[in-house]
Amino acid sequence: MADPAVLPSPWVLVTFALPLDTEFTYRLPEDVSAEDSLVGRRVKAPFRNGEKEGLIVGVPEHEPAEPAKIKTLTQVIDDQGLFGPLTLATARWVARQYLCTLGEALSAMVPTARRERNLPPWTVEEAAADHDLVLSGEQTEAVRALVQDTDKLFYLRGMTGSGKTEVFLQAARHVLDQGQQVIYLVPEIALTWQLRETLVHRFGPLVAVLHSRLTPAQKLKEWRRIQGGEPVANPGLFILDEEHEGGYKSSNTPRYHARQVALWLASKAGAKVVMGSATPSLEAVHLMREGRLRTLTLSRRLAGGAPPEIKMVNLRGSSSSLTPELIEAVHLTLARKRQVVLFLNRRGFTQSFSCKTCGHEAQCRNCSVGMTWHKGRNILLCHYCGFQARPMTVCPACGSLDVGWAVVGTEHIEEEIRSLFPSARIARLDSDTAEVKGHAENLVEAFRKGELDLLIGTQMVAKGLNFPGLQLVGILHADLGLALPDFRAAERVFGLIRQVSGRAGRYLPDGQVLIQTLRPDSPPVLLAAQGRDEDFWTAELATRRALDFPPFTRLIRLVIRGRDEGKVRSEAARLADALRQAFPGPPAPDTTEVLGPVECPLATVAGNRRWQVLVRSTDFPRMHHGLVSVIKSLPASAGTYREIDVDPLNML
Ligand code: ADP
Ligand code: ZN
Ligand code: ZN
Repeated sequence: MADPAVLPSPWVLVTFALPLDTEFTYRLPEDVSAEDSLVGRRVKAPFRNGEKEGLIVGVPEHEPAEPAKIKTLTQVIDDQGLFGPLTLATARWVARQYLCTLGEALSAMVPTARRERNLPPWTVEEAAADHDLVLSGEQTEAVRALVQDTDKLFYLRGMTGSGKTEVFLQAARHVLDQGQQVIYLVPEIALTWQLRETLVHRFGPLVAVLHSRLTPAQKLKEWRRIQGGEPVANPGLFILDEEHEGGYKSSNTPRYHARQVALWLASKAGAKVVMGSATPSLEAVHLMREGRLRTLTLSRRLAGGAPPEIKMVNLRGSSSSLTPELIEAVHLTLARKRQVVLFLNRRGFTQSFSCKTCGHEAQCRNCSVGMTWHKGRNILLCHYCGFQARPMTVCPACGSLDVGWAVVGTEHIEEEIRSLFPSARIARLDSDTAEVKGHAENLVEAFRKGELDLLIGTQMVAKGLNFPGLQLVGILHADLGLALPDFRAAERVFGLIRQVSGRAGRYLPDGQVLIQTLRPDSPPVLLAAQGRDEDFWTAELATRRALDFPPFTRLIRLVIRGRDEGKVRSEAARLADALRQAFPGPPAPDTTEVLGPVECPLATVAGNRRWQVLVRSTDFPRMHHGLVSVIKSLPASAGTYREIDVDPLNML
């Protein structure tokens, strides 16, 4: 069948970035020839009582019923489409999979800038010749497998500094030499400028960079440079670095996961995918163990580094977040003119209730996730299934009476550190300080250059950053985060400890890690400190299987929000009832189960009350299909809004 987009027709179909599941028919302006390929061009269209920018996504298959009523486009903005058939197909898949409209999916993918006729010329940077690194045996084998073998899905495992990037670059070189494209994904804005430098150095003007901090015009310019506006015309390889990172999952509509989109696109285009990390997600571990994802391993550091020496320090009984052992280690490191990172996992949740002596925290007996303390009613609540319990007054684990909730913050620790080490050059990097544009970049750069001695930070310092002079990493409260009402809490704590530890000893073999914890025996903390990845994964997978959590099931989370608690609550109940009717089976293998409704752990955000319903199933297509019908037959009632999250990562 001929591409309908090139058939002459005075009509086109247009979508808008709106939650409206309709493609609207318009008549082309007279000056635009209908014979050209029109798909992918931006248009201005009369819409309701005004004018809106939209995108042409096709031509109608049939003559409109009442052609006289069809409005004419005000303007076709582009002479050349912003995307081609593969991007459009991907957007359609995203819309279906993540339950948004085609317009919403496209607007998340395609630049929205106005046309700018006089774009500044792109400064072409010359590639430095390919340099003369001699690949290690493991690297050579990994590149060979990626380039030659018929497998499509690979996972490159290896700690920071084990030479993963070099493998990616060499595999990319082969793919480019074949005349195909490489799409290289990183999950964090801070990593893009580091990577851009590396890539431009290697591949010069072949590199285009797209990230969220570009202005719309810059984004459009980069977009246009990529094979005339079809960024995925002929992809040969997708590289997904730091695969485990939550940053790959979008937190607004469409709530897509970039890994899943890459996998879909790659299979559609016949391309290969290689993911990489030192700490794969449990989903990836499961696939590797089942042989559905081929594992390539890099087992040692290549630039003079070695795995750091890791020590645990018991925080029990310590009145400060800084133990004498840690203070001593910082002293010694600073005296040697080397650098220190102090890491605080601030994803701790202030409403979690725990024993301050031993760190024990209450868990739901059905779901094994942390329970949340509701001060007003003085109850502990499970935000998955709704189970309630009285808060403990005596710790069932150690008998201590010192139970309750506590907050630890980076600001407080910064003060303490400054008074202990008045002459050290100290900075703090967390989401508060990073709000100032460019601040995080500058801090990271200054630390890398050795202009700072000590960096205090949250998750942001754990993410793939490369600090040559770093010797000591201190993890202040390693178990913080275990109490989160989230079934991935243990996986995250384990992964963070491994990631943060991996920052030390990259180039010199004397890296040192001090892990302070209230719970030295808790498996994620202990096994991370001992570097026993396989043992942790085995244990954690067994827990997930026993409790029917991913990767053995898949979840869809529905959040209902609104100003009026009563309305939100009854809407959540109405939705849960309808879902239970659609999925009546008792919990059993191969079935779909509805959990809730229950208040979200973050019960109020920006004045909106939030309730949730979780659906989980071993049969994703059945769950997805059933849920779509329920949602479509039950429009949200007045004053309430729905967020639908397929494969949610954020459970708060
Ligand atoms: P990763 O991506 O696993 O963190 P990189 O690829 O960035 O690791 O490599 C870490 C360091 O090791 C870099 O400085 C890199 O130049 C160096 N390196 C990589 N491969 C080799 C090699 N075969 N021989 C020597 N040094 C290497
Ligand atoms: Zn206790
Ligand atoms: Zn529960």
